[in-house]
Amino acid sequence: MPLTESLGHNIFQIPLVDLKTIYRSTGYIIKEEKTILVETGAAPSNSVIQASLEELNIQLGQIDYIAVTHIHLDHAGGAGLLMEQCPNATLLVHQRGAKHMADPEKLIAGARQVYGDLFDQLFNPILPVSEERIKVMEDGDTLDLGNNRVLTFLDTPGHAFHHFVIDDPVSKGIFSGDNAGMFFRQLYDDQGISFCLPVTAPTQFVPEIMEKTTDRLINLHPEKIYFTHYGMAENGVALLQQAKKLVCFFGNDCAKHYQKERSFEKLFVFIKERLYSELAALGVKGDIPEKETLDNDIMLNIQGVIAYVEKLERG
Ligand SMILES: [Zn+2]
Repeated sequence: MPLTESLGHNIFQIPLVDLKTIYRSTGYIIKEEKTILVETGAAPSNSVIQASLEELNIQLGQIDYIAVTHIHLDHAGGAGLLMEQCPNATLLVHQRGAKHMADPEKLIAGARQVYGDLFDQLFNPILPVSEERIKVMEDGDTLDLGNNRVLTFLDTPGHAFHHFVIDDPVSKGIFSGDNAGMFFRQLYDDQGISFCLPVTAPTQFVPEIMEKTTDRLINLHPEKIYFTHYGMAENGVALLQQAKKLVCFFGNDCAKHYQKERSFEKLFVFIKERLYSELAALGVKGDIPEKETLDNDIMLNIQGVIAYVEKLERG
């Protein structure tokens, strides 16, 4: 089975490795006169990226740009290693993330704290990128790939303060990083049902900001969303509207629930009930595929809700 998949409009999907699992995250190549890779995943994705490029007949020296939507390690942890192998590439990153790409010490320390002994297996190595090879992309900045294809970078806080989304008018699609949530690809493949869950993970989740960003993305009227987790989805606007509804749910209902009940377990049940009824309304039949993923995502989202509530209470 080939690793890569052509999505049309000279866009190719390549699998990344996340938490030792392939096909949980996606990188995207756009190939015009210039070639760009969007998202690198963590360093363990490196060999699969190389194999994918080989499959596409692209040499490492032909990569002109590597863009990371934000610097969370599952998106950008392997950027330093890949930049060493791609001698002609420039790294495109949000202004607030650039310094951490040049000096990843804090990223490494943070991940070591969270993942302990697993750090090496999941993330090593996280290498610095020399400053002169980093280009900061501000809101509205464009990138000309040649052949009349110009990408626009949009400053889109919500999931994180250092996040951008890339708009591609040629395919009428957006590369959403974590800003449109996680797309449940298996559910789509099995039952043809499109569902995405906002990622309200700690520590920078602010519901109002995420809602505003989602509105901004809706106003682009994207037909396609290229999710990092994972794969391309059609009906971009409908998915974003669904995501927006759930952002309100997590930011209002779940926050209130936690303020009243103070229980992780009860909030988990509350969220699960809502999402399962949401999925039933979409027509999901039988057991929900990727149930375990959904449970894990709910747990991560709860941590973000709790962090948000605690921030509110601290004032
Ligand atoms: Zn993230």
